[in-house]
Amino acid sequence: MQVYWNGSLVDESAVRISFDDRGFLFGDGVYEVVRVYHHQFFEWSRHMARLERSLRGIALPGVDLAAITQGADRLLEQFPEADGALYLEITRGAYPRAHAFPPDGTKPTVLMWIRPVPARNMDAWHDGVSVMTTYDDRWAKVWIKTIGLLPNVLAKEQAHRQGLFDAIFVRDGMVTEATSSNVFIAQNGQLMTAPVTNYILPGITREVLLEEAQRLQLPVVQQPFSVEALKAADEVFLTGTTTEVLPVTKVDGHLIGTGHAGPIARMLLDALWSRAGVVS
Ligand code: PMP
Repeated sequence: MQVYWNGSLVDESAVRISFDDRGFLFGDGVYEVVRVYHHQFFEWSRHMARLERSLRGIALPGVDLAAITQGADRLLEQFPEADGALYLEITRGAYPRAHAFPPDGTKPTVLMWIRPVPARNMDAWHDGVSVMTTYDDRWAKVWIKTIGLLPNVLAKEQAHRQGLFDAIFVRDGMVTEATSSNVFIAQNGQLMTAPVTNYILPGITREVLLEEAQRLQLPVVQQPFSVEALKAADEVFLTGTTTEVLPVTKVDGHLIGTGHAGPIARMLLDALWSRAGVVS
């Protein structure tokens, strides 16, 4: 597979990342995941805008986003399939281990590739997935798309060990998001999702769906909601670049709605797909 590594397209076997890389040593880096639909990036400029904010969030200047965009286009030219996902990671580069930033001029490490996405599990889509809630023990800058995802990894594993699809984080009794997606609920036809604060990642899919909801004249509020509201909702669904719109039909063993994908989730998935040119 061809990958983009520090400005060039190379075979994956040519990539050498130093053990002094700050991504490896400190999780000192940020990332993006961008969906490829029909051999085109979906919402590229929004992902770049978020990347820029993440880079500012970790005080990592001097990354050439135009070069990254060009590199991504070259990668896409080489990608043989219609659908996939681009992964992009930028770290503060390699320097002998010390917490303080390395000297100016240390080159960030930039790595990108595009891989196919696993086929959609339409059974999971129709019947929904089961999740648990868990204490949100992440740091207070969740809006930065940092590669430091250990709390997310641990929560996802905890869910898997209980035979569940995912875990939804709860901070001070209020739902923030899931381990790799945002959370929406629908109650009496009204949509609700947590507002953008330091405590959620502002998902691009979330943003797109808020626009689509408005277009469809679905009432939507960005407002904190409790675990009780989550469990009492008519519909619950997760949203994300790879998740798209995924209904949740069980939370902590408690059945949501009819136990099947609800009409609002269906409508929003259709809206997302039609925006991306996917034929459903
Ligand atoms: N929250 C978290 C913690 C995530 O990891 C993701 C996916 N990267 C999202 C939300 C959804 O964001 P997006 O729609 O941009 O993929």
